[in-house]
Amino acid sequence: MERPVRVRFAPSPTGPLHIGGVRTALYNYLFARQHGGTMILRIEDTDSQRFVPGAEEYILESLKWCGIEIDEGVGVGGPHTPYRQSERRDIYLKYAKQLVDAGWAYYAFDTAEELDALRKEYEQRGETFAYNYTIREKLPTSLSLPAEEVEARIARGDQWVIRFKMPENEVVKMDDLIRGHVEVNTSTLDDKVLYKSADALPTYHLANIVDDRLMEVSHVIRGEEWLPSLPLHYLLYRAFGWSDVQPQFAHLPLLLKPTGGGKLSKRDGDKMGFPVFPLFWTSPTGETARGYREDGYFPEAFINMLALLGWNPGTEQEIFSMQELIDNFSLERVSKSGARFQPDKAKWFNAQYMHHKSDAELAALFQPILREHGIEVSDELAGRAAGIMKERATFITDLWDLTSFFFVAPAEYEEKQTRKYWKGDNPRILTELREVLASIDDFSLENTERIVHGWIEQKGYPMGQVMNTLRLALVGAGKGPGMYDVTSFIGKEETLRRIDSLLQNLKPIE
Ligand code: GLU
Repeated sequence: MERPVRVRFAPSPTGPLHIGGVRTALYNYLFARQHGGTMILRIEDTDSQRFVPGAEEYILESLKWCGIEIDEGVGVGGPHTPYRQSERRDIYLKYAKQLVDAGWAYYAFDTAEELDALRKEYEQRGETFAYNYTIREKLPTSLSLPAEEVEARIARGDQWVIRFKMPENEVVKMDDLIRGHVEVNTSTLDDKVLYKSADALPTYHLANIVDDRLMEVSHVIRGEEWLPSLPLHYLLYRAFGWSDVQPQFAHLPLLLKPTGGGKLSKRDGDKMGFPVFPLFWTSPTGETARGYREDGYFPEAFINMLALLGWNPGTEQEIFSMQELIDNFSLERVSKSGARFQPDKAKWFNAQYMHHKSDAELAALFQPILREHGIEVSDELAGRAAGIMKERATFITDLWDLTSFFFVAPAEYEEKQTRKYWKGDNPRILTELREVLASIDDFSLENTERIVHGWIEQKGYPMGQVMNTLRLALVGAGKGPGMYDVTSFIGKEETLRRIDSLLQNLKPIE
């Protein structure tokens, strides 16, 4: 029988969530939704050294902004509460001891200093030190010390760790839903620490496996950086006797630098001017990092862009709503090789979403910016102005520059446009045009256009010159939409006022 799909996003709160992490969460979410499954959020905070205050809140807010909904986990609750590993600490020791009892793990008493010294010794001989079958019986471990001594050391409070006893020379055979069959010889692996008495906490490997089992996770979808841990995870499932219920694995390709080689880092973003985090971040020590939200990206555009970094639908389609992503996503179409991040493509996606927004949606986003500029207008007008100019905008913040003339008369006139058009017959023709406009009652776009064009043709005036002179009066520069978009928007009175203002205030070029 197929198991119910239960996936988890399991970030460690060690800093702001990288966009690669958001993509992992997204793919888990799409997979869960497509299969009618459950999306779990588990916070893996057992590494107290790397814990960063504020990081968990940042993760939760990022997922919310992206529209990635959590069914079970931190912030939501569920049948396996708590979902924060630091609050589950009582669970793990039992499992670590179970492995010791079964001969799959052992106590080790060596100190950090002793290990450092060993490492140096090896280096001097030109070898690399590995804590594995070659040495574990020569070090102070429960494999080399008598049982009473082990007990005595634990009883008197010596520090210890529990390490996994990696088998020697065994081929672990694994399957990955993206990478296919993978084999690794255990002699290349070391004895990872599973539990530390110093802080009474498990390490990532133990807590991750135990929790995935207890939370009945069916599929582990995570970043490629965890692929080297897969043999250990397979062996841990075997050691616990859980092989037949272990999850299926899918390791996602890395997000690469825009230039190709290497993992996308904050430094790449800083150098090339794009964020690598979903939200603006301030670290406890005051360092900051840009975020997509604060840089003006729409969450839908951001998600759409991320979805296609590593997955392709097998068609030419590029614009996907969340629902379309849910319907179309498949792990089979996730690539094995890294996905190169393209900052311009991110902007392109945002522009596409901008162009498809309705006037009402645009109004809601644009009103705060208008208010910042002291403009109080109806949503209808805010949306109409934005709607006329949206094709030229990438971000909402572009709209003020693109539309300000709808709301404020020119305070000055652009030099280039003035030199080109504010001369010769044009000022006289503008005076005549003013009278034509003054005689129009129905100032709608179509009617004004019909009358003015008729008049220009009848007079035999050069159309471009007349329109550009009018543009100088109404916009003050050589930019903006069609002139009748402007006249109908600002209305007759304001149109005449702006023309008068140019005629009275700007001396024509000789
Ligand atoms: N806590 C790990 C991380 O931060 C989770 C890895 C996994 O999904 O197994 O990425």
